[in-house]
Amino acid sequence: MSYKSDIIIVGGGVIGSSVAYNLLNDGYTGEVTVFEKDSIYEFSSTPRSAGGIRQLFTTAINIQISRYSLKKYETFPNDMAIDKEKTEIDFKQRGYLFLSQNETIEQLKKQCTLQQSYGVPSELLTKEELLSIIPELNIDDLNGGLYCSEDGYLDPYSVMQGYVRKAKQLGANYVYEEIDTILESGGNISGVKLTNGEIYEAPIVVNCAGPWAPALSEKMGLPIPVIPLKRQIIQFDIAEELEKDLPLTVDPTGVYFRHEGTSLIAGFSEAVKPGIDFRWKRSFFMEQLWPILGHRIPNFERAKIVSGWAGMYSHNTVDQNAIIGDHPEVQGYYLACGFSGHGMQQAPAVGKGLSELIRIGKYETLDLSPLRFERFERKEILVEGAIV
Ligand SMILES: Cc1cc2nc3c(=O)[nH]c(=O)nc-3n(C[C@H](O)[C@H](O)[C@H](O)COP(=O)(O)OP(=O)(O)OC[C@H]3O[C@@H](n4cnc5c(N)ncnc54)[C@H](O)[C@@H]3O)c2cc1C
Repeated sequence: MSYKSDIIIVGGGVIGSSVAYNLLNDGYTGEVTVFEKDSIYEFSSTPRSAGGIRQLFTTAINIQISRYSLKKYETFPNDMAIDKEKTEIDFKQRGYLFLSQNETIEQLKKQCTLQQSYGVPSELLTKEELLSIIPELNIDDLNGGLYCSEDGYLDPYSVMQGYVRKAKQLGANYVYEEIDTILESGGNISGVKLTNGEIYEAPIVVNCAGPWAPALSEKMGLPIPVIPLKRQIIQFDIAEELEKDLPLTVDPTGVYFRHEGTSLIAGFSEAVKPGIDFRWKRSFFMEQLWPILGHRIPNFERAKIVSGWAGMYSHNTVDQNAIIGDHPEVQGYYLACGFSGHGMQQAPAVGKGLSELIRIGKYETLDLSPLRFERFERKEILVEGAIV
């Protein structure tokens, strides 16, 4: 059996669904078909994310992408309302805070200036000023921090479902089946073959398959420098409450933490072997997180694990940034993958950009071309200094 569509999107996570929504919301009138193999999104990266939204990046492109996306998340509940019912995403603008030790303060000053030049209200804080944000913080070994009060965290699952519902309302066709192969003939995309053997023909395929994107591309003979890496998050309770709600805070060691309701969550990008693996371990908290958390905030010394989970980063091994845009070797093949742990805060801008590139052949709102695939061959590598 063979079906036809105008655009096929592989993966209905936050990225694929934002692309579908933006295409249709921008007036695209063709058939948009989104394939999603995991109908309850059990293993997708999106619902397993920490939901951190920050403009505190070190490259102009990531700062601009995050600023655009943050503004979209501020108005998301109304913009994505269905029949006047708001799409709540629990966006808590409690700030984002990078704590600094001596060796990074100059770097932070430079970052702050660059962020401010794009309108981001980031601030460099002295170590004493940090106490106005987190009164219980141990500042003995810190020399300050970089803070942005507009930033914060949201509920990734609600954002994704908001995009899915709105895209469907605008006419997107979601098919809950797995794509086996992206098909190409003579340098042009011709469609996809599903694992059930069905063929869907289309001249355009967008690879938004998250951690599974590199394997699909590799199968076409078009490898991309992205590997799946396991990332764990642990939820815990503390005996003595903190005075204030936490910003998403990143310790100089890379351990990050924030409130999750009345509990807390913490995570860390530990060194792991590449591969899909969803097992989480209490020992990760006991051995890697807890000593650092207890040192940074004494209240964390008396902590009790509530639960935990593991999700996948789609880690770009070359420059830890997303790969966005058309593939130079196959006409009609587009990529939106390799987000390296910052895809939630990029989803609105990436969806908008790809909608423009596919519909009109160029970027209008925000030039995402620094993230194009050709940057690797052209040695236009885009190293991001603030990876969490
Ligand atoms: C622990 C953790 C913490 C994170 N914290 C943050 C954060 O604080 N801030 C931030 O911005 N980002 C964060 N991220 C990153 C963020 O979650 C991802 O960048 C983002 O969710 C990527 O979305 P996606 O749609 O590309 O991937 P996914 O959500 O994984 O969606 C891809 C979809 O494709 C489907 N799929 C794959 N292959 C096929 C196929 N062959 N056929 C059909 N369907 C297919 C999958 O089932 C999946 O649903 C974090 C990630 C993790 C794991």
